[in-house]
Amino acid sequence: MNTIGHLINNRPSRLDTNDRVAPVYNPATGAISKYVAMASRETVEEAISAAEAAYPAWRNTPPQKRAAIMFRFKELLEQNADRLAELVGEEHGKIGHDAKGELQRGIECVEYACYAPELLKGEHSKNVGPAIDCWSEFQPLGVVAGITPFNFPAMVPLWMYPMAIVCGNTFVLKPSERNPSSAMLVAELLYEAGLPEGVLNVVNGDKEAVDVLLSEPRIQAVSFVGSTPIAEYIYTTASAHGKRCQALGGAKNHAIVMPDADMDNAVNVLTGAAFGSSGERCMAISVAVTVGDSAADQLVAKMKERMQSLKVGAYTDDSNDFGPLITREHMEKVKGYIGSAAEQGATIVVDGRDVQVPGHEDGFFVGGTLIDQVTTAMTCYKEEIFGPVLVVVRVNSMEEAMQMIDDHEYGNGTCIFTRDGEAARYFSDNIKVGMVGINVPLPVPVAYHSFGGWKRSLFGDLHAYGPDAVRFYTKRKTITQRWPSSGVREGADFSFPA
Ligand code: NAD
Repeated sequence: MNTIGHLINNRPSRLDTNDRVAPVYNPATGAISKYVAMASRETVEEAISAAEAAYPAWRNTPPQKRAAIMFRFKELLEQNADRLAELVGEEHGKIGHDAKGELQRGIECVEYACYAPELLKGEHSKNVGPAIDCWSEFQPLGVVAGITPFNFPAMVPLWMYPMAIVCGNTFVLKPSERNPSSAMLVAELLYEAGLPEGVLNVVNGDKEAVDVLLSEPRIQAVSFVGSTPIAEYIYTTASAHGKRCQALGGAKNHAIVMPDADMDNAVNVLTGAAFGSSGERCMAISVAVTVGDSAADQLVAKMKERMQSLKVGAYTDDSNDFGPLITREHMEKVKGYIGSAAEQGATIVVDGRDVQVPGHEDGFFVGGTLIDQVTTAMTCYKEEIFGPVLVVVRVNSMEEAMQMIDDHEYGNGTCIFTRDGEAARYFSDNIKVGMVGINVPLPVPVAYHSFGGWKRSLFGDLHAYGPDAVRFYTKRKTITQRWPSSGVREGADFSFPA
């Protein structure tokens, strides 16, 4: 069976004798489809050395030349979209249309990286004192690292290294060991676009590889996306080693449904937001907070009806709405949350635990699940389920709904469904969440804004991609300059002074 290696110095499929291996599953069949190498300390150090060696020349490569490679990279990503979607489907389980949507969002980050010459222009002030000029420039950090999760295997790496690289850094990526193939192909395409050897290196692995990246003195900064306990570990460990760090964590995204909302529209878009990608999105809506019993009754009745037509199945059939969960353990965990809700007194309106997908009996499937009468004390409310499960919490006022959201440990995304502009404005102004939607259920910022949550959904100061990425991947240097006259401009006088 095929074993995926590392990409170091533009040499793909590098395997090291010290590396362990781990299985990669096809979640739709439940079978092992390949293995992936788990980098040892030596392998990670070799990748860092490759990035370190490539840095001086890359740092001095003009930004427009770096950006020119990104233009070609974007074209290659578009040309290889089918192949990439297939790899994402095979290892993540995502349906083709969803995998292509993921890739498109990643390509938009590459497009933004093409602006590098504009983004790196710096700031300039003339005559800050007599004949004194002052300017700030944004210099690269050196070798930087990225550690990414399974749920957007092609996109999240593209949140990181295109911007890091166009800013003049060199990069070591450690993708999720659950579905490494699409990240490997994307990296190979960047080399096909003309990237010099060693500027990007990919090591596959787990905690052992990550711990090297967090402590190695040559790594200047770490970008992380994944679950909150690991994000917190990454942030505290990288910071303790003096590194700049941004660590994006988990989520529990609430949608407030006001009594005046267009209920058909809310149900329609919430269906995609809650169950799309099997709920394995950090921006998935997992809690509907209904204001007033009438809104709750309508939402639950319409959602139950809408869910009858949801199609769950393998990525190979593009008519499916969503696919399996990532692993058998995760499937059991999600079923456990549904069971706990029933035990703790909630009402299971639609139960996805026994879903059958003919021909894929061993796949890791859970069907769309709707749980009503949930309270904030229940486990299914407090924790991130990361599955196709929508819980409904009934409240009596918007203030109560907002307080509940503010009290939750996570603050990644949220949205409100209403026809009232003033209520929407009050909500977006005051809610303690990083990304807010108004009648938009998945308010994922476009590539020229930045992505990040508040509270325990992000450790660090700067958000991912967009303008914050320029700041994260560069350090400011401010230069103050004065050139007293040396007489050269006036012309030297060689005659004997009279
Ligand atoms: P995860 O935290 O298990 O893994 C993420 C990365 O960390 C992987 O590369 C993994 O190999 C590594 N890792 C895992 N355990 C580690 C350890 N003990 N020490 C060091 N490294 C370790 O996350 P996941 O299951 O791959 O992804 C799902 C999670 O990611 C969800 O919680 C989801 O909300 C979150 N997520 C957040 C965002 C965001 O932008 N906030 C985006 C996508 C996913």
